[in-house]
Amino acid sequence: MSVFRHIGKSILLKHNQSALTLQASFFHKSHSVKSKNDYLIDTPEYDFLKDIGIERENFGVYNGSWQGSGEVITSIDPGTGRKIANIRMGSVQEMDEAIQIGVKAYEQWSQVPAPVRGDVIRQIGEEMRKYKEPLGKLVSLEVGKIHSEGQGEVQEFIDICDYAAGLSRIYSGQVINSERPEHIILEAWRPLGLVGVISAYNFPNAVFGWNAAIALTTGNSVLWKGAPTTSLVSVATMKILAEVLNRNNLPPIATLCQGGANVGQQLVSDARVKLVSFTGSCATGRNVGVEVQKRFGKVILELGGNNALIVDQDANFQMVLEAALFGCIGTSGQRCTTTRRIIVHEKLYDRLVKELVAKYKQVLPKVGHQLDPNTLVGPVHSQQNIEHYKAAIAEAVKLGGKIAFGGKVIQSDGFYTEPTIITDLPHDSPVVHRETFAPIVYVLKAKSIEQAIAWNNEVDQGLSSAIFTENISNAFKWIGPQGSDCGIVNINTTTNGAEIGGAFGGEKHTGGGRESGSDAWKQYCKRSTITLNHSGKLACAQGVVFNVE
Ligand code: NAD
Repeated sequence: MSVFRHIGKSILLKHNQSALTLQASFFHKSHSVKSKNDYLIDTPEYDFLKDIGIERENFGVYNGSWQGSGEVITSIDPGTGRKIANIRMGSVQEMDEAIQIGVKAYEQWSQVPAPVRGDVIRQIGEEMRKYKEPLGKLVSLEVGKIHSEGQGEVQEFIDICDYAAGLSRIYSGQVINSERPEHIILEAWRPLGLVGVISAYNFPNAVFGWNAAIALTTGNSVLWKGAPTTSLVSVATMKILAEVLNRNNLPPIATLCQGGANVGQQLVSDARVKLVSFTGSCATGRNVGVEVQKRFGKVILELGGNNALIVDQDANFQMVLEAALFGCIGTSGQRCTTTRRIIVHEKLYDRLVKELVAKYKQVLPKVGHQLDPNTLVGPVHSQQNIEHYKAAIAEAVKLGGKIAFGGKVIQSDGFYTEPTIITDLPHDSPVVHRETFAPIVYVLKAKSIEQAIAWNNEVDQGLSSAIFTENISNAFKWIGPQGSDCGIVNINTTTNGAEIGGAFGGEKHTGGGRESGSDAWKQYCKRSTITLNHSGKLACAQGVVFNVE
């Protein structure tokens, strides 16, 4: 994501506006800002930003103290196009220093008993609880997601801290039977060292939380580079962590260096960073994966999705409609798990399109500013999303697609698009196979469950998928070896909105990484296999005799 959206945004928007203008009341009623040059941080209704340590000018680097010597960027409210506050980014040199500091902090932290580390993570979770409301509001403001989704994102951070605190007492290796007398084989999980986390704009708080809570609990130190356009969330989140670390007299085991691609590249290519956990687009992730592999580092890749919701002929139709609505247009289509394709049995196709269009009509008046309590669909994040939305619609129409609903940019000061339904495209159209980070869904008509599964699997990405069926045979087909090839394979629930208890991630071009729950913690560790001989005699495995007597 470039910082392009900070430059000349309002001029660009004027050129791109459609004829449609929503009633203006959604967009401005809660903003008593006088002029476009005013910063939201300076207005009383945004005082909550100060509660979480945000100021008009902020440093984007934390390595035990706050600093920054890179370019200054201005964070923008995508709902109004107004400035929130400024952040001075880190430089490549500061990333290098942060790596050095993180490696040193690891040496001390890795010696701390795991349950004691877990208690520090518990305290971080408690602080997140305390600041959930203002921090969640900042997530909403800076990303563009609605209030409940901003709160939900911080809740994920809290949940993973609870999980990690428990994990610290129970994660363990095993004892394996040896083939040799009076030998025993042990397996132990040890920390890796410094873990680098690079995150995307759409989950600027939770993705760091998933990684940091588990990486720190297992004894690693963590260095984070968040997306430049959500730098305020990075700063506020790190201030909360820093307070807990200081209170516990700990070295900077969690550090931050905000910056663009060059700062990210520094982290990716440095052999002192033992694991790089990267969340972002497939295109960037592919390069990151290759760079880390070149130096034989470890990598977790959490990349793009192209998620399908399959509707079997006997599906619970009401549930399908509700799942499609949240799946397709929740977060304005900007979750990696957003439903981008609905593959529906031909018997239900016409009814589904008609009733989904009716639902979208009900939603349209609820498109508005992300912090307005009446809003269900906020803006997209930036002008770049608007450009991708327009390009996808134009391409779809050129390829023969019909716009059943939406299709236009909404005229306003923010970045708003109409939630859009497109029908009549071939299942394998290039635009259908591409992830467009905007609220567009393609509805495809399938003849059978086998065909629907084949279409689900034919895209490059393999993140999330869902089937709605009451047919037990089809449900098992879906989760079997010839079923969905995704990492997330749901039945009768949405493609989006995963819980922290399971491992999160996907296959193929989604990168293969897993984060969060289940045994994802193992990725933050190296495995030691320990053979212990208590016989007093040396014996080789496989009965090999090797002696000079
Ligand atoms: P992006 O790839 O543009 O940027 C992601 C991060 O990479 C940012 O911090 C960016 O500054 C950094 N970056 C850019 N170039 C880099 C380089 N050469 N080296 C190192 N770092 C670099 O992605 P985005 O637009 O911020 O996010 C949207 C994408 O992220 C979508 O494709 C979405 O599906 C994906 N995503 C995936 C998951 C998941 O868990 N699978 C979760 C959230 C988002």
